Amino acid sequence: MLKKSLKVSILVTILSICSLIAYTQQVNEPKSGNPEWSAPYEPFRIAGNLYYVGTYDLASYLITTTKGNILINTGLAASATMIRANIETLGFKFADTKILLTTQAHFDHMGAMAAIKKMTGAKMMVDAGDSAVLTDGGSSDYALGGNGMSYQPVKIDRVLHDKDLIELGETKITMLHHPGHTKGSCSFLLDVKDDKRSYKVLIANMPTIVTDKSFSDLPAYPQVADDFAYTLAAMKNLQFDLWVASHASQFSLHKKRKPGDAYNPAVFMDRRGYDEELKDLQKQFDKKMGL
Ligand SMILES: [Zn+2]
Repeated sequence: MLKKSLKVSILVTILSICSLIAYTQQVNEPKSGNPEWSAPYEPFRIAGNLYYVGTYDLASYLITTTKGNILINTGLAASATMIRANIETLGFKFADTKILLTTQAHFDHMGAMAAIKKMTGAKMMVDAGDSAVLTDGGSSDYALGGNGMSYQPVKIDRVLHDKDLIELGETKITMLHHPGHTKGSCSFLLDVKDDKRSYKVLIANMPTIVTDKSFSDLPAYPQVADDFAYTLAAMKNLQFDLWVASHASQFSLHKKRKPGDAYNPAVFMDRRGYDEELKDLQKQFDKKMGL
């Protein structure tokens, strides 16, 4: 009898551990409270072979090549169908997506990544600093972690480091390590061209501060202040013709372009807007540092 009850209690313990694991593996996407994150927006050609395929505010970028396409950022979990429809509306095949990238491993850019990887078989490439959070679905994020997974974990096919090249067809993208917002936040630089000229495009991850805690109160990220300082300085020195960013609001997409507008890369030639954004972010950083 004793033996049997011992077996039962072991079984009960195993079952409860299993259900605990199942519970903790559930994805709890935070409620954004931001309807613009899930509202639709018409996909459009930004410049050359670079297209906007995101939601109203969560920017996703498609770069088309003769060897398949590259998709940067995927919005929330529910954005997958919208991104797919946007790609197809532009006349491209969703299944041609070969490489997946993210500007930062937060749920509002990673939400649909695992699903899109599964649907397309594309290879996930990520800045080394974000490889841990990608693997645990954001659980270990220094600012937004601690509440389990906020997005489905994604298997990584290639780890990227500062200035690494991502090549597909005739397209070469340089990854720029811009840590702070997450440990592996990054921007991308690439040249695109249309029948008139070529453009150097910056897809920027703006270094916004994402925690209310003091920088010295973040044991999971001791170098956070140094990283923000590095990124702010590095971004000020970048040279480009056009710029866009992780959120449409960050580069004032909806002021620059209205639905139905004709192709016009020039509206994204906005060095002043970029410099002003960085100036504002530098102020917020200095304030946090008590400067
Ligand atoms: Zn973020």
